[in-house]
Amino acid sequence: MKKTLLSILCICSLISAYTQAKPKLVVGIMIDQMRWDYLYRYQNRFGPDGFKRLMMQGLNCENALIPYTPTYTAAGHACVYTGSVPSLHGIIGNAWYSKELRRTVYCTEDDSVQTVGSTGIAGKQSPKNLWANTISDEMRLSNNFRSKTIAIAIKDRGSILTGGHTSNGSYWFDNVSGGFITSSFYMNALPAWVVNFNSKKLPDMYLNQDWKTLYPMNSYLQSTTDAKPYEDALPGEDNTFEHNIRDIKTNKYESFKYTPGGNSYTFDMGREAIKSEGLGKDQYTDMLALSFSSPDYIGHKFGPNSIEVEDTYLRFDKDLASFLNYLDETVGKGQYLIFLTADHGVAQIPGFMKENRLPAGIMNDALIMQQVNDSVKKEFGISNLIDYVLNYQVYLNEHVMVQSKASGPVIKNYIIQKLLQYPGIAHAVDLATLNNFTLPQQVKDMLANGYSPKRSGDIQFIFKPQWFDGWDRGTTHGVWNPYDSHIPLIWYGTGIKPGKLYREVYMTDIAPTLAAMLQIQMPNASIGKVIEEVFDK
Ligand code: ZN
Ligand code: ZN
Repeated sequence: MKKTLLSILCICSLISAYTQAKPKLVVGIMIDQMRWDYLYRYQNRFGPDGFKRLMMQGLNCENALIPYTPTYTAAGHACVYTGSVPSLHGIIGNAWYSKELRRTVYCTEDDSVQTVGSTGIAGKQSPKNLWANTISDEMRLSNNFRSKTIAIAIKDRGSILTGGHTSNGSYWFDNVSGGFITSSFYMNALPAWVVNFNSKKLPDMYLNQDWKTLYPMNSYLQSTTDAKPYEDALPGEDNTFEHNIRDIKTNKYESFKYTPGGNSYTFDMGREAIKSEGLGKDQYTDMLALSFSSPDYIGHKFGPNSIEVEDTYLRFDKDLASFLNYLDETVGKGQYLIFLTADHGVAQIPGFMKENRLPAGIMNDALIMQQVNDSVKKEFGISNLIDYVLNYQVYLNEHVMVQSKASGPVIKNYIIQKLLQYPGIAHAVDLATLNNFTLPQQVKDMLANGYSPKRSGDIQFIFKPQWFDGWDRGTTHGVWNPYDSHIPLIWYGTGIKPGKLYREVYMTDIAPTLAAMLQIQMPNASIGKVIEEVFDK
């Protein structure tokens, strides 16, 4: 009898090992430009049910890093969902320069498709430039397309690159019509629920309330005082509270993206998608990919030490709490899985750094191109050798190079030496022969992971910390340094073991970890590793 019981127990535990609990819905929450340190910087004023609920009850990866550079939005979204790097999935930046077309190419541009949901051109987009499958594609492939994927973001690239090639609907915001649109790549007409959602004109409702701080201004102890000359303006408005967004008349939907209302609106659309598409209703795990673009728009203008950014995250925390509550009520507590992360971080504003006697600086890519071209002309008699500078990469004109009959390596070395004369540039390397350069291995690996011989430039320059291409207001991201590459990563929900993980994990580990959890194939260019510590074994 004892023996029988024991063997039944053994069989039961074997069966449970093979049929691990799977979530009914995976919700990917990408917060555009969220630095890891924001989780702690603002935590004293977070409520118990938003970020803190995920941090306390989920697994918090404290050292999640981006394993490539340049650290831009499109690359970040593609890497999280493909488990791969720009070198292999092809999305090396928001845009790159095409030597054949002799123009810049936008990451998701697609002239062969049409806008669906508006008369504008903002829908002429698709994932055709993304070479790899996403985890959302693999979920659909795993059960003969019974899983469903919906992707939503204000930015086109935030929803197209996360929804992947087989998305049931990837929707982004159109600043002409003030609603969500898509492209004929996905469908020929918006579903009734999206038409209905758009007809509520929620952006107008959000714009109709001026942006005042949630709490008294003098309580924003994590931020500088409000009016700083190095802060840029909210488009159509200015750089100080309160932000009178009600008065914006021209291009108001463009300005809308720069307000916390953009986040609330994305959550609104997410809730509507769950309800109307019946996400998380059957045994086939669905995916809701949400990307919040407004923190990036706001962050670029005001910087990480601004009341605007602090207030944005305090408001986001409240929106997140009510969304989690909605998931509990609709999908059910413990029935869904969330991963929360970011596509990149952001630098401090150079003016703020200088004000506090910290090193920083700005450069001008266009000026660099002009000056180096002038030097090349003087030295070698070759005109316009540099075609373009983008993503801190110098693109050489192959045609001019061949015609000049000059030695490629000699000219490249000359350009590298010229670049090194700029005060903000610490290194400049030939991307095709990266191993010939003396550079810390970590930075070399990040450059190699970000390099595509088909889409990248020829020479990469690397700034000293806190230097970037820009002007004397606002800030940006795009480099290898920790302020751009250290991102939050929290897992919460079905099968997740709560706790903290301090070892280094990477943005590319998210997709293979999801694949392991769902017992499906990992995406077809994935090079990430499964984060075993997330599993509640
Ligand atoms: Zn971004
Ligand atoms: Zn950005």
